[in-house]
Amino acid sequence: MSAAAEALVIVDVQSDFCPGGALAVAGGDEVIAPINELACGFPFVVATRDWHPPDHDSFAAQGGPWPAHCVRGSAGAQLHPLLDANVIDVVVDKGTERGREGYSGFERTELERILRAAGVRRVHVAGLALDYCVKETALDARRAGFDVVLHRGATRAVERVPGDGERALAALEAAGVEIAA
Ligand SMILES: [Zn+2]
Repeated sequence: MSAAAEALVIVDVQSDFCPGGALAVAGGDEVIAPINELACGFPFVVATRDWHPPDHDSFAAQGGPWPAHCVRGSAGAQLHPLLDANVIDVVVDKGTERGREGYSGFERTELERILRAAGVRRVHVAGLALDYCVKETALDARRAGFDVVLHRGATRAVERVPGDGERALAALEAAGVEIAA
């Protein structure tokens, strides 16, 4: 068995998604301590970043649903400073194309190849936000054939529509994702 049969994928724990950021998720920074703790137990850790061009289609100025956020290279797009950078093996940028939403860390990125090259079979997912990028990343991991575990206590939802967080958990369970505390 490869030493890295299990990996943690930390989704979008970036300043813009935490309180004070451009698209703050309520309690977004509360995922940081549990993620730092979790990450120590994994032989392989990947962090994704939402990394948009300034005119990304998801932004309100382009008719999209979100305020401008995580513009590539900006302060708000950086991984949150309290996230322990020492435990992160690889950073994967997503949402880099103007016309593609890029919620999933697997969407037109090297993530699947990176995980397979590391011998990973079981992917643990945490981060922001549960009802968008965490959900889509976990679903794509399932579609790619990985066993997937969602760490519920290490994620928070945006809840654009109240109940989206619970609906995301139900969709993940229905897709065969194991929900852990
Ligand atoms: Zn985004």
